[in-house]
Amino acid sequence: MPMPHYPVSCSAPGCPQPAAFKVAARWNDGITHELKTYSLACLNCLGTLFASALVKSAACRLAPGEALETPGIYELHRGGRDKTLKRRADLEGPSARRPEVECPDSSDPHPC
Ligand SMILES: [Zn+2]
Repeated sequence: MPMPHYPVSCSAPGCPQPAAFKVAARWNDGITHELKTYSLACLNCLGTLFASALVKSAACRLAPGEALETPGIYELHRGGRDKTLKRRADLEGPSARRPEVECPDSSDPHPC
């Protein structure tokens, strides 16, 4: 079933920009594989949202048999499928991470 084409906006609170990247990590439980999406980001918010995803990932408790890879940055293509997303490892370097985001936000209802 084709996905509808609609503009996706940045996940950062109050940011009106359209998202250009997806912050996601590959997850599997030995049977099912999926790309777990943390956030959708515009270029300006990418560093902050990626750092936040790293924190959430580190705080995520997995059930036995589950495996969650370190979050990565993928180019977002409107209407594209996850398997066709292009990873942008060049954006995942230390310069993309903001050191001030170190503590998990315990009020976040979706820690994973
Ligand atoms: Zn943004």
